[in-house]
Amino acid sequence: MTNRESAMFKCRSCGAVEFTLVLQSSFQGDVQIYTQDSGDVIIKVNDKEFIADLMFMNQFALCKGCDAIHCWEYYYPQNNTAEAEGF
Ligand SMILES: [Zn+2]
Repeated sequence: MTNRESAMFKCRSCGAVEFTLVLQSSFQGDVQIYTQDSGDVIIKVNDKEFIADLMFMNQFALCKGCDAIHCWEYYYPQNNTAEAEGF
């Protein structure tokens, strides 16, 4: 479990920061999600990259914790390694 708690969004319902994208079944392409050191969540679709914002999350992101959608809020963890202790 090396998932860094550098997520930009968290679920209002359960506090989870992990999500999966809900895409139309007609969608074809390769989607990758990764997080920059700055905390920005980058969505890469085929060769195009963009930064996920709250609107995007609430339209397309499904919480892995509670299966909710439309549940996201901004979450900016402290930019240091001690964040896990003082949550
Ligand atoms: Zn949740």
